[in-house]
Amino acid sequence: MKSDAKAEVGQTESLEKGSVLKEILEANQKFIQQFQPVKLSHHPRKKIAVVTCMDTRLVDFLEPAMGLKRGDAKIIKNAGNTVPAEVIRSLAAAIYSLGVKEVLVVGHTHCGMAHVDEQKLANSMRENGISEEVIAGLNLKEWIGAISDEESNVKEMVKEIKASPVIPSQVPVHGLIIDIETGMLRVVA
Ligand SMILES: [Zn+2]
Repeated sequence: MKSDAKAEVGQTESLEKGSVLKEILEANQKFIQQFQPVKLSHHPRKKIAVVTCMDTRLVDFLEPAMGLKRGDAKIIKNAGNTVPAEVIRSLAAAIYSLGVKEVLVVGHTHCGMAHVDEQKLANSMRENGISEEVIAGLNLKEWIGAISDEESNVKEMVKEIKASPVIPSQVPVHGLIIDIETGMLRVVA
C-alpha cells in the first residue's frame, strides 16, 4: 500500500519541528492529575520480549490484542521489526538481566517497510536538506531496512535471532503477524 509507505518513510513535506510538544505537555498535566502511581518490577511479568514495528496503528493496539498490560513485556520497536545488532543487544539485556525467557517477533499486514519507494525516500531526504553525497553513500533500501514482504521478513528475523551466538538456544523464538485491521494474530514461525 503506497499510503503506508508514505506514512513511515519518504514524507515529501518538510519536517516540522516540535509543533506537537505543547499539546503533549498539556495532555501530560491532565494525565498526572488523575494517575495513581503503582510499583512495578522492571522484570516483565510474562517473561517475554516482543520485537515489533514502529507503525502508528500498532500503538495502543498490539498490546491489548496480545492481552499485554503495563509491566507484562519488554517491547522493542523499529521500522519493519528487523533485528540488527542493536535489537540483539536489547534481547540479550532482556534475557540475561531482566528475566526474559521467550521472544516473539510480531510483524503486521500492510507494513510500510514492505513498500519503500527508494526514489521518494531520496527526494524527501533532499527536500529536508540532506546532501547528495550522503544520499549517494547509502544503499537506501538496505539502510532504511526495507523488507520484501511481511511474512517472509518475520520468518527471516526469527531465524536470525535463533542463529545469533549470544541468544541461548533454550529460549523459544516465535514469529507472528497481526492483521492491522482486525487485530487477529497468526503464527508464521
Ligand atoms: Zn510496519
